[in-house]
Amino acid sequence: MGQLANETAVFNKSRTMSKQQTMDIQQARLDALYAISAQQVHSSDLSPLLEQVIDSAIDLTRAERGILLLVDEENGRFNPVIVRGHSLATVDSLPDQIIWAVIEPAIASGTRLLTGNAQEDERFSLPPEANTRLPRSAMCALLQIREEVMGAIYLDNPDQANLFEQTDLDLLTAIANQAALALDNKRLREAAQAAQKGKTAFTSLVTHELRLPLTSIKGYTDLLGSGLAGPLTDQQQQFFSVIQRNLERMTRLISDLADISRVESGRLRFENKQFALAQTVADVVDGLRELINGRKQTITLDLPDDLPPAYADPTRISQIVANLISNAHKYTPDGGQIQVKARPDGQMIRLDVVDNGLGIAPDDQAKVFSPFFRSDSPAVREQTGWGLGLTIVKALVEAQGGHVSFCSELDKGSAFSFTIPLAPTSDHK
Ligand code: ADP
Repeated sequence: MGQLANETAVFNKSRTMSKQQTMDIQQARLDALYAISAQQVHSSDLSPLLEQVIDSAIDLTRAERGILLLVDEENGRFNPVIVRGHSLATVDSLPDQIIWAVIEPAIASGTRLLTGNAQEDERFSLPPEANTRLPRSAMCALLQIREEVMGAIYLDNPDQANLFEQTDLDLLTAIANQAALALDNKRLREAAQAAQKGKTAFTSLVTHELRLPLTSIKGYTDLLGSGLAGPLTDQQQQFFSVIQRNLERMTRLISDLADISRVESGRLRFENKQFALAQTVADVVDGLRELINGRKQTITLDLPDDLPPAYADPTRISQIVANLISNAHKYTPDGGQIQVKARPDGQMIRLDVVDNGLGIAPDDQAKVFSPFFRSDSPAVREQTGWGLGLTIVKALVEAQGGHVSFCSELDKGSAFSFTIPLAPTSDHK
């Protein structure tokens, strides 16, 4: 028996404790509760926590025996999972004997229970065929969260009467509450993980299944557009342009969803190499120039000639830069300005995409990297998008050892920045 238990024993036996001893015991009880709640935060495996729960409860109350029972979610039965002072096999095989005679009434009434002597307490009785005796001191607290009973902790002392007091039952209840909280947290964690897994699997399946028909639709649309199936009338040409625009949107969505599901399942692959970031940026800007000119926006590039080479996956960097410049273009009114700057920053290269467009409201700023987030502003909603671009940008940058940041002011503009590693100096040519 540990020091704590000894102190508790003294308390229960003599009832003549000094104020200091009482305070020590209270401190020990608080310490035990703290240790249980601390372990709850750190452990994903509940077994050690439940062992600690029952051991602390026994140690601090001078009980001789203890049983922690949990509800079986399939059949609603209470199963003993941790047992002290009994054998698990005995407990399991004698369900109609002592523990059930004492615990079941408590569970059935949904209340905790305390008796100084179960042998003389009319609330308890054993069936005639029982080959054991009722204990003397016994108490039981429920593992309960909201209205749901998840289990119970039962402690007893078969020989000593009037061992437990109301404060012991209060302590047992506090310990049981911690255990219930830990069980509830574990259940919530598992449900969230299962939902996340299901979502990733669904996204991966849908993107895979949509890719094939989409490729086929695109192939035949290109054939129509090339005039191979006969010339298109003006009206057909108009319809054809609408089909093409929407095909591009769908292709982009599927490719973004595929990237998200790769990020979530850790299947992103990078082909890192040394490359010139300035060239990558210039190529992306060339690809977007028509759109930018179409809205009379100006784009200026500040890419120093002596910019050292970067080390990352150029295709992915191209995707990141395209996302940021495309956003600057979409969320800047006609005639606005976009600036792209690159410079070395310690062991990294930093790229800034600055616009003088719509800006982002302070309340929205914490959400811009969350999947499917789009500002409610009508000017944003009038642009196409699914709110996946920045989620992907952040994941891609971070997976390559960089960092994304932004600052933005509503109606003034935004600056999105990211860093990627410089190529090691010996690699520079
Ligand atoms: P999408 O552009 O498809 O909506 P993103 O993930 O790229 O998705 O962006 C999420 C949201 O962040 C946008 O819908 C918009 O509200 C805001 N946002 C992103 N970039 C800018 C920007 N340069 N200026 C203003 N708002 C922006």
